[in-house]
Amino acid sequence: MRIAILSRNETLYSTRRLKEAGEALGHQVDIVDTLHCYMDITSNRPAVRYRGESLPKYDAVIPRIGASVTFYGTAVVRQFEMMGTFSINESVAISRSRDKLRSLQLLSRKGVGLPRTGFARYPDKIDDLLKNVGGAPVVIKLLEGTQGIGVVLAESRKAAESIIEAFMGLKANILVQEYIKEAGGADIRCLVIGGKVVAAMKRQAAPGEFRSNLHRGGKAELIKLSPAERKTAIQAAKVMGLNMAGVDILRSNNGPVVMEVNSSPGLEGIEAATNKDVAKMIFQFIEKEAKPNKTQTKGKG
Ligand code: ADP
Ligand code: MG
Repeated sequence: MRIAILSRNETLYSTRRLKEAGEALGHQVDIVDTLHCYMDITSNRPAVRYRGESLPKYDAVIPRIGASVTFYGTAVVRQFEMMGTFSINESVAISRSRDKLRSLQLLSRKGVGLPRTGFARYPDKIDDLLKNVGGAPVVIKLLEGTQGIGVVLAESRKAAESIIEAFMGLKANILVQEYIKEAGGADIRCLVIGGKVVAAMKRQAAPGEFRSNLHRGGKAELIKLSPAERKTAIQAAKVMGLNMAGVDILRSNNGPVVMEVNSSPGLEGIEAATNKDVAKMIFQFIEKEAKPNKTQTKGKG
C-alpha cells in the first residue's frame, strides 16, 4: 500500500518508527509535513498539493497532529477524507479529543468512569464549584494544557480559590477536578488500536511530584490491566471515535477513571516499557481496514 505519515518532523521517534515498520511490511511510506500541505478547497476533484505538486492518491494516512497545529492539521486530514483516503483517525475525532471539556462531556454521556469535574467561566460561586467536586484538595487544569504544563494541585480550599481566581482573571478556561490521591502519583497509559488494548504501561511521577508525565520526569514500566481497566480504555476510545488512541486512566477507589484520550499517542515510552512493536500493529490495522471511502464522515463536519 501507499501510505503517508502526516508529521511535521521526520526525526521524531514515532515518525521514524512508523516509517520503518511500514516499510518492513512492504509498504511505500512517505512522510508529509502537514503544514506544507495546501489545497484548492473548492475544486470538485479534491486534491492536496505539496511543494508544487499534487500528492499521489494514498491508500491511507496516519495523522500525527501536534496540539499546537490542530486547526490546520485537521483541515488537511479532512481534505484527504474528501478524496476518499482512509485516515486511521478521522479529522472530527481528532478535533473532539483535543478539547478536554468536550471529551469529558462525551465520555460522561456514555457512562465512562471519570474524576468528578467542574467547569465555570466566572468566579461567582467558587465554594459551590469546589463542593460539587468533593472539596479540596483539587486539581485545576488549563483546558489547552499538554505534557503536564497547566495542571496544578491545590491542597487547601484557600489555595484552590486563589488559583481559580487567578486563572479566571487571565480569562483562561479551566477544569476543576477531584484529586485522585489514592492513585499515588501514577497513571496508566493504554494504547488502543482497533478496539483492542495492544499495550499498557504505568507511569510513576518523580518523587515529590503528582504529575506522572514522562516530560515531567515520570518513569514508565510494564503493567497488567484489570478487566475493568481494559474495558474502560476500549470504551473511551470508542466513544471518542478513535481507531488509535492513548487512553490515560487513574486507579481510584471507585474503579478506573479516565483523565484524557490522546489521538496521536507517542510510541517511544510505550514501546520501550512493553517491548512491543506498536508501530507494526498500526500498519496491520491499516492493512485490514483501509478501503477507499471508508471514513465515516468523508470530510463532513
Ligand atoms: P496533560 O494533558 O497536561 O498531560 P493531564 O490531565 O493528563 O494533563 O494531567 C497531567 C498529570 O497529572 C496526569 O498524568 C496525572 O499524573 C496527574 N493528574 C491529573 N489529574 C489528576 C487527578 N484528578 N488526580 C490525580 N492526579 C491527576
Ligand atoms: Mg496527560
